[in-house]
Amino acid sequence: MIFDGKKLAEEIKSSLREEISTYPAKYGRVPCLSVLLVGDDYGSQRYVASCEKHAALAGIDCRVVRLPQESSEDDVLRTLEELNQDANVDGILIQMPLPKQVSQAKVVEALDPKKDVDGVTDTNVAQLWKQKKSDYSRFSVPCTPRSAMRILEAAGIELDGKNAVVVGRSNIVGLPVTKLLMNQNATVTVAHSHTKDLPALLRKADIIVAAIGQPKFITADMVSEGAVIVDVGINSDPATGKMCGDVDYENVAAKCRMITPVPGGVGPLTICSLMENTRDCFLRNL
Ligand code: NAP
Repeated sequence: MIFDGKKLAEEIKSSLREEISTYPAKYGRVPCLSVLLVGDDYGSQRYVASCEKHAALAGIDCRVVRLPQESSEDDVLRTLEELNQDANVDGILIQMPLPKQVSQAKVVEALDPKKDVDGVTDTNVAQLWKQKKSDYSRFSVPCTPRSAMRILEAAGIELDGKNAVVVGRSNIVGLPVTKLLMNQNATVTVAHSHTKDLPALLRKADIIVAAIGQPKFITADMVSEGAVIVDVGINSDPATGKMCGDVDYENVAAKCRMITPVPGGVGPLTICSLMENTRDCFLRNL
């Protein structure tokens, strides 16, 4: 099965829109996401424009606060504090990367955990690692791992007792997806750049989550027949310049029970998870 992330994203947005359309009567307003964008990074500008578009489709109010590239750390912290204090703002996304004069760690820790829509604050990270169940209504988990889990659920993939290998151990993708898989009783191995004999490890996996950042790194010889693959990678194919994942999709897909393409797999769902996390922050903080 080639997983259609765009289709699922449309379904989620449409059900969010329906649900949120009832909020003005019930709660007096719709959820509000504020995106703090510092500087002029091209990828960030594109992502934020996409957030605005998809928030509008889901019926969420999206306010982008733009600060110039040369902003000081104090400028950023002051603006963030205003958003923390604003009772009409339910969720705050701090768009990364921040300019080099601004400490990412300091800014993230200044974010009110109750408004942390990407699950990046220590409070939300601790919740994820302490809880044995992934109860999204109680705390925020990072958007991309939430999307990966949503895909596995929508595809009807049984996780209990299965061998999962997560390739990549970043705080924003690899580690949270590891914990979410463990919460579903998968047996999870985390691989990284020091892992010995990754192909042998991958060949034993029922489920592979690739979050590496290397174009077409996972090839057909590394994957067993019937494997399930969630490809989180977003790379540029050096041969064609086109977007590609971490998996050599053209040669691997035929062996898989289920695989997510790039583009059109995890990507469209990440923004949906952002909208769901905003809705959840809104409901949690009523
Ligand atoms: P990251 O912070 O650079 O982490 C990459 C991880 O891959 C690291 O843990 C690294 O190991 C591991 N790795 C690198 N080379 C490897 C190798 N040869 N063998 C085994 N492991 C290797 O990246 P990230 O932020 O997690 O993102 C990963 C990919 O997902 C990127 O392509 C990114 O663009 C994409 N992404 C997509 C979405 C989405 O919405 N679809 C969202 C976020 C990220 P070490 O720890 O040993 O260095």
